[in-house]
Amino acid sequence: MIEYICDQCNTTYRIETLRYRCDCGGPLQLKQAGTGFSIDRVTVEDSTLWRYRHALPVTDAASVISLGEGMTPLVSFDSPEHDHRVKLDFVCPTGSYKDRGAAVLLSKVKELGVEAVVEDSSGNAGAAIAAYSAKAGIDCTIYCPAATSKGKLAQISMYGARLKLIEGNRAATTQAVLEAAETTYYASHNWNPFFLEGTKTIAFEIAEQLSWEAPDHVICPIGFGSVYIGLFIGFQELQAQGIITKIPRLLGVQSAACCPVYKAYSENRAQVERAPQTNETLAEGITSELPIRGDTIMRALRETNGAITVVDEPEIEFGVKALASKGIYVEPTSAVIVKAFDKFVESGIIRAADSTVSILTGSGLKATDKLMKIA
Ligand SMILES: [Zn+2]
Repeated sequence: MIEYICDQCNTTYRIETLRYRCDCGGPLQLKQAGTGFSIDRVTVEDSTLWRYRHALPVTDAASVISLGEGMTPLVSFDSPEHDHRVKLDFVCPTGSYKDRGAAVLLSKVKELGVEAVVEDSSGNAGAAIAAYSAKAGIDCTIYCPAATSKGKLAQISMYGARLKLIEGNRAATTQAVLEAAETTYYASHNWNPFFLEGTKTIAFEIAEQLSWEAPDHVICPIGFGSVYIGLFIGFQELQAQGIITKIPRLLGVQSAACCPVYKAYSENRAQVERAPQTNETLAEGITSELPIRGDTIMRALRETNGAITVVDEPEIEFGVKALASKGIYVEPTSAVIVKAFDKFVESGIIRAADSTVSILTGSGLKATDKLMKIA
């Protein structure tokens, strides 16, 4: 039976509960999820992430909410000296990888019989939760800072979600949604562990697309860490079954403007501490001053012999243009991987014969206002 278990104090809770965190304040994980990945049980004719349903915590097939997410292309980045591929995860229905988490989370929510959810996001997660709520027929309210760009609000409200615009800073929005979460299911992409059950499928797909082998390295942006942790969970499950022999080194990238995980890594600290954002950044999708699952990020970093780097604004802009020059149009948050790859090569972490996969998380069409400024 799947239960919640607290990451900090090991208290367990039933998953039917409305709670989104432990009484001690710690984030919840899933106990006894994800056991028994089997290549033989992959539904190869299903071209979505639900081909791995036997390894996902949704037992009732009738509860599966899908818009065709997952099985995104893995293509060469045309690097003459290195085996570097990029996973086009922005080719998901709402334009970002967050559809993976939203699909599994909303399917589980439907299976639990929940009829209404709340979520706070000013970006891709809000759109994903709104879209999958619409498909599921679940009432959805998204809390956003009043200053959120109109384009993002348009996508969320077009899916039929109720928008609550909150005056003040991001913290005011968080406060408002937590009050709502007292009485309504909180479908949080940061707190709810079912979201990570969706993002772990990136690891399954990479392995399958490489004929059930793991690359030497996987690079991804880190804000709250849902890609980074998802990769860790997914590759661990494959290793536990002997499908891959080693987990790739997980290489994370943060914006220099907001980099609490990089600071913990570079200062050799075991815990992530709050690091206030110092300036505006093109990579707005990863401006998390204190990731909720900082301990899990650091565990994944240690156990995969991973590394973290930072990129500044000119380097992010360079990345956007380098990708676009090869026909790949992503939001700046995704483009951090380009200069990060070079830095990992320079520092000797990525060597000439190594294989690397980088995750491109969100479409450039999501960030038109930012991209117009650098075009
Ligand atoms: Zn606890």
